[in-house]
Amino acid sequence: MATGLVRLICPNLLCRSMLSVSESMRGKEVICKACGNRVVVPLKSKESNPLAVVPPKEEKSS
Ligand SMILES: [Zn+2]
Repeated sequence: MATGLVRLICPNLLCRSMLSVSESMRGKEVICKACGNRVVVPLKSKESNPLAVVPPKEEKSS
C-alpha cells in the first residue's frame, strides 16, 4: 500500500496535463513533462481534483 500514485493536473492553464507521480513525491516539486512547469505535489488529496472540497460526512440524526 506504500507505492501509490498521485494524480494531479498541471496548474499551467496552457498545459493542463495529467501528471502521475509516486506518493513518495508528496510535498515535493515535480516537473511537468509537457511544459516544464514546476508542480508541488499535495500532501494529502483523496480526490484527483485539488479544487474540489469534500465536506466531512454528516451523521443523520432524525
Ligand atoms: Zn504542464
